[in-house]
Amino acid sequence: MPAASQPLSGAASTDARRPVGDPVATTAAEKAAAKAWKVDLRELGRRAGSMREWEKTLAALPGWGVEMIGVPEGAPVDLHLRLESVMEGVLVSGTIDVPVTGQCARCLEPVEDTFSLDVQELYAYEGSTTEATSGEDEVRRIDGELLDLAPLVRDTVVLTLPLSPTCTPDCAGLCVDCGERLDDLPADHSHEVIDPRFAGLAARFADLNDDADGAQPGSGSTDTEEN
Ligand SMILES: [Zn+2]
Ligand SMILES: [Zn+2]
Repeated sequence: MPAASQPLSGAASTDARRPVGDPVATTAAEKAAAKAWKVDLRELGRRAGSMREWEKTLAALPGWGVEMIGVPEGAPVDLHLRLESVMEGVLVSGTIDVPVTGQCARCLEPVEDTFSLDVQELYAYEGSTTEATSGEDEVRRIDGELLDLAPLVRDTVVLTLPLSPTCTPDCAGLCVDCGERLDDLPADHSHEVIDPRFAGLAARFADLNDDADGAQPGSGSTDTEEN
């Protein structure tokens, strides 16, 4: 059996949560939304050291999420970024504030939050040494004069999202018997055990029934041995 027949499985995909490709914008509105994330670099210039602040609120594009939580399409994402021209490309750094909504993995209640995330990423110029010596999945690329911030923000958010979001850190989940939220129920909520305050009374009723019906076997037989 030839040893080389086995493909290099797993070697290429370092993170399974990284989305595969960008969703393709088809309608004019989708194209306009995607275009808003592309920074025109012509005014930044290529002189190393030139810098530009990028303060903007942009609408989130579709598909920024994992199974139970994500950024709603069109939700406002606040960008506080700095674009800096360096030798090999443009360094993007700063913070992004992004609203996320989802469902508690334990009790299914809606979950709402805003993530404030730090980003720092080099986008390589076309024709730069960095571009020539790195894979497209390793270093982001500048496409002509356009730097697309959307994939950076999407990847940063998606990699931060919890796979099992919870409404509170210690959410107790749902009662397996009635399906109600345990956090909404009294601490002694239960279905199997008779309330301890009435357990003695229940046993006494069982005794009385036994006496009245003679040899009829009672349900509370454990307390009837000494009568
Ligand atoms: Zn919950
Ligand atoms: Zn219950």
